[in-house]
Amino acid sequence: MQFKCSQCCTTYDVTPLRYKCDCGSPLTLQKNTSYPKKWHTSTTSLWRYRNTLPITPDTEIVTLGEGITPIIPLDVTDTSEHFVKLDYLCPTGSYKDRGASVLITYLKSLGVTEVVEDSSGNAGAAIAAYCARASIHCTIYCPTSTSESKLKQIAAYGAAIELIPGNRMATTEAVKQAAENICYASHNWHPVFLEGTKTIAYEIVDQFHGNVPSHIICPVGFGSIYLGLYIGFREMCNEGIIDSVPRLLGVQPETCCPIYRAYINKTDTITRMRQTGKTLAEGITAEIPIRGKMILEAIRDSNGAFTTVSDEEIKYGMTTLAGKGIYVEPTSAVVIKGYEKFQEQGIIRKNDTTVSILTGSGLKSSYGEF
Ligand SMILES: [Zn+2]
Repeated sequence: MQFKCSQCCTTYDVTPLRYKCDCGSPLTLQKNTSYPKKWHTSTTSLWRYRNTLPITPDTEIVTLGEGITPIIPLDVTDTSEHFVKLDYLCPTGSYKDRGASVLITYLKSLGVTEVVEDSSGNAGAAIAAYCARASIHCTIYCPTSTSESKLKQIAAYGAAIELIPGNRMATTEAVKQAAENICYASHNWHPVFLEGTKTIAYEIVDQFHGNVPSHIICPVGFGSIYLGLYIGFREMCNEGIIDSVPRLLGVQPETCCPIYRAYINKTDTITRMRQTGKTLAEGITAEIPIRGKMILEAIRDSNGAFTTVSDEEIKYGMTTLAGKGIYVEPTSAVVIKGYEKFQEQGIIRKNDTTVSILTGSGLKSSYGEF
């Protein structure tokens, strides 16, 4: 396996310190895409789909039983079917465990003993937990605004925490300096992380008995879940496991929505959008996604769409979900109003089947009002 630059196509051997191209662009994986289409059906974690992952058969995996999360009906009537996938039920309380399990397994197989990562919460907790499991020393760089409950969780796993003043970008700059000498287990930069998040697509098809829903809705910041879904569905399509990729529908907060803006304006690049105010959806405030080109390709290829929600609409989503017994963090709740807006726009139509991904638990969120 090799890394290949998504922009200039330079290839690199895989080494622990390599996480981006010398030109500054993100890397993709060049891998053998023809794998046995047989799942390890007795395995009750995402490692059921191990054949599709860039992990050799003799590698010892780092797992906490992540994945194979329930899909339940949210609002299923005679004319519409809206299901939710409870991915916040992963071991550390967010879907990021998928990427962390596969990435830390991979890095351990390279002999890595120390990593750094930057996060506003969930990814930091996931990387810290899997590093604890793998006995890898881990330092998480967090903005000072990170919620106390998330910091406590990261610390509990034994990770060191570096609190960085300023915005999320300042934290990323700080970790990049450390990454010159220490392996950067980045959920945004490292292409192996997306191999973990792609397993959501495999699971959905499995749970729908080989069928593909019409639409998948997810929150989008840097796009690690949106791109994971795209990679997974596209792979299955190329391998003849499914006939088509579902429409991938993304939701961003109104105050920070560079992908939505590029989608509406039909531009072929995503440009930076300065965050214009605070948002409850702190987990998806990315002023410019690193893999912008790939996100636009995923929108085009899946006939996808984007919309935005306000804080009031996020609260509405949280209340609606909690009223049905589902307690998620604000970032996850964007999908509820998103679903209604896609319906109003005629993107979701009568008799369509939609699955929304609920990405993070409400239990560690700092938002407490209802
Ligand atoms: Zn390059």
